[in-house]
Amino acid sequence: MMNLGRVFILCFIICLILITSQLSTEPKLCGFIGYKNDDPFSPPTVKKDGLQELQTIKHNDRSCISRYESPMYRKQSIHKPSSYLISRLRQYEALHKRCGPYTESYNRTIKKLESGQSIDDDHEPSDCKYLVRIASDGLGNRILSLASAFLYALITNRVLLVYDNKGDTCDLFCEPFPETTWFLPYDFPIRNRLQRLNTNIPEHYGNMLKNSSSSFVYLHLFHGYQNNGRHFFCDQGQNFLQNVTWVFVRSHFYYIPSLFLIESFDQELANLFPEKDKVFHFISRYLFLPSNPVWDLITRYYQAYLAKSDEKIGVQVRVFDPDIASRYYNAKFTSDQAVPDTVVTCLLDNNLLPKIDTNESLTILKEKGKSIAVLMTSLSPRYFQKIRDMYWEHSSVTRDVIGVFQASFEGNQNFNDKMHDRKAWAEMYLLSLTDKLITSPWSTFGYVAQGLAGLRPYILHMPNNVTMSNPACTRAVSMEPCFHSPPIGGCNKDRSKFPHVSQCDDLKTGLKLVDPNA
Ligand code: GDP
Repeated sequence: MMNLGRVFILCFIICLILITSQLSTEPKLCGFIGYKNDDPFSPPTVKKDGLQELQTIKHNDRSCISRYESPMYRKQSIHKPSSYLISRLRQYEALHKRCGPYTESYNRTIKKLESGQSIDDDHEPSDCKYLVRIASDGLGNRILSLASAFLYALITNRVLLVYDNKGDTCDLFCEPFPETTWFLPYDFPIRNRLQRLNTNIPEHYGNMLKNSSSSFVYLHLFHGYQNNGRHFFCDQGQNFLQNVTWVFVRSHFYYIPSLFLIESFDQELANLFPEKDKVFHFISRYLFLPSNPVWDLITRYYQAYLAKSDEKIGVQVRVFDPDIASRYYNAKFTSDQAVPDTVVTCLLDNNLLPKIDTNESLTILKEKGKSIAVLMTSLSPRYFQKIRDMYWEHSSVTRDVIGVFQASFEGNQNFNDKMHDRKAWAEMYLLSLTDKLITSPWSTFGYVAQGLAGLRPYILHMPNNVTMSNPACTRAVSMEPCFHSPPIGGCNKDRSKFPHVSQCDDLKTGLKLVDPNA
């Protein structure tokens, strides 16, 4: 009887532990030691790609299969990173390893943060400085703002740490830096405050410019840049941050174009990126490697639907709510009725797909053309169905065989759904494996795909009402994402010195990096 009682209590405790661990909102600890370079596992031999140099030399880490398998799925890149960028990435990795979580330097700076010692009273500045990035909004937004935070950390010699309360970074991406981690530790002193940081707190950057009596600085880079937030993009604003050990940043933007307008960063950025229109391409290839579960989705889908085709076309259709389109993107888009025709016209007018043969008395020809796979991504099946039916009901005039595929029809953007985010990341990545790309205006989802691919997409012109726009799409001036909301009246009004920072294709008030000589 006594034994049964004990067994019952033991079972009860185990169940309680299991239930509370399931309910916990904190993600499981993941990837703490980063990846190792000395794993004895022998990877398959793959073609060398110039971009592989972005990663450290050995690519044999089983905790991140995409690190060494990805070159098998991509065509050799024609874009080469500068040797300076590669050497600065190696330096950054060494810095991160020396200063990352639980190192001596980290522990020392944490004590100062815990004690609340003000920046002004800190007479022994640390040799390690940090930038903690707080995640915000959809996955495309999160990827772009993370890339921006990384470049800022790189050029200001800060260590980038990633905070997201959902643990999605850890579920979706491999650790990018060897033998360390980029995740903010769970026992980080002010972790439970991070979601609540805002522009009214004394630590907000704009407020600190007036009175720097806090132990850290919070940057809030969103529309409006309340309370002097836009000074972050000025040289004077950067001087102030130089001696601050802990900087926290929340944004959902790709704010790199405005970093290029800060004169004190000019030379370093020019050395890192002699070709200014490939910044996100190199950063994204270096930083964002799919985790094993996402890599499994990508490779299975690729092998089933894309691998055997001669040519691959990616089509990303993102239809924003007309309210959002008009409020944020100043667009007159009112209805998605004409969107399917817009996509078809864009494909045909730019010879991305052959026209269909409408001749009823068609004779069956023996010879076949090439096989073309069209990979579509969208929350809805509407656009996919139209193109699939077109090439199912008719043959193409060239006798090319067209297969049209879409991996998911999620309906809505979901928050807090692990599989939803995995699919979104897998689809962005699959789009980036295609040869030619059509994307939707204003969509960060599409920006990620084009940047990873290294392709200048055809951007759809969303129809104003029930009739199509003419033309249906135009080719983007560069593969770079658009910074949707640069601060108005920034410090550098003389834009002639920065011909590589230009208006976005899809948003007049936005900024994007271009090659001025192209
Ligand atoms: P944006 O809103 O287009 O700038 O892109 P974001 O990625 O920031 O946010 C949109 C979110 O909606 C994505 O992260 C997905 O969660 C979801 N979503 C939008 N389009 C698609 C799609 O084509 N496929 C999938 N699987 N999810 C999508």
